[in-house]
Amino acid sequence: MTNRKGNEDSTRNTVGVGEGMVLVPEMGFGGRFGVTLGYHRLLCHRSFKLPKWLEYFFVYCGAHAFQRDPMFYVNTHRNHHKYSDTNRDPIVIASHGFWYCNMGWLFNNDHVAKQCGELRGGEYSKVPELKAQWFYRFLHYTYFWHPTALATLVYLHGGFPYLAWAMGMRGVVVHQFASLVTYVSHVWGDRPWNSPDTSTNNWWVAMLSLGEGWHNNHHAFPRSARHGFEDWQFDLTWELIKFLELVGLATDVQLPTEAHKRRMESCWANSKLKIESKVEQKEP
Ligand SMILES: [Zn+2]
Ligand SMILES: [Zn+2]
Repeated sequence: MTNRKGNEDSTRNTVGVGEGMVLVPEMGFGGRFGVTLGYHRLLCHRSFKLPKWLEYFFVYCGAHAFQRDPMFYVNTHRNHHKYSDTNRDPIVIASHGFWYCNMGWLFNNDHVAKQCGELRGGEYSKVPELKAQWFYRFLHYTYFWHPTALATLVYLHGGFPYLAWAMGMRGVVVHQFASLVTYVSHVWGDRPWNSPDTSTNNWWVAMLSLGEGWHNNHHAFPRSARHGFEDWQFDLTWELIKFLELVGLATDVQLPTEAHKRRMESCWANSKLKIESKVEQKEP
């Protein structure tokens, strides 16, 4: 009797864990596309346009990827581009160290604001168009409750194994893959473009981050919806944007022209001194 009950419990837990393991990539992809396509390429850089209902859908998926709400993320990211690698860059590893760069910036509003030259946490001076929309204000003020509601639903549906995999393990994987771009793609990799910062292209980060690891391309041409410029530079987020354009949902898709590319000096011979002097000039 005890053995049979034990076997039933074990079977139930195994099923829960097995299904939970399917949930991690499924929900992980949803959340990551929400950040790469929704938060980053759409909101931060306005690389293309979507109908409002679809914009809000992708952004809402992003709100479940543990990168905080769109206002905070977009404001911080625009400052990262504006002050790249200077003391004002809110997420640069050289000034703040690994752990702050990895996750500390997500928890310290006032420090992030001070770094960017804002008066106080919550000013969000770089996102007036988001502050003007009720949806983004709503997400900002109620952010905590959205992942909490999802966690509750997951728990009610599958119990603790689902919760552990779909929220715990997924949170760790999704966040760490996103963070790779911040600290690996400003340290290791190739620099085909002479952008005034330390950004690099890193193929394995690109694979894990749905194309965001072609970060030197991105810093060189921030408005481009496509980050992997070469055929061999696989960029899954761009593939999805291309599909949305094909079916008529994505419009005004921004790509660098040949003239833009010619203006950027090719720098395979990479002059580190040149980059450093540019970075110093940008420091306040
Ligand atoms: Zn960067
Ligand atoms: Zn960016």
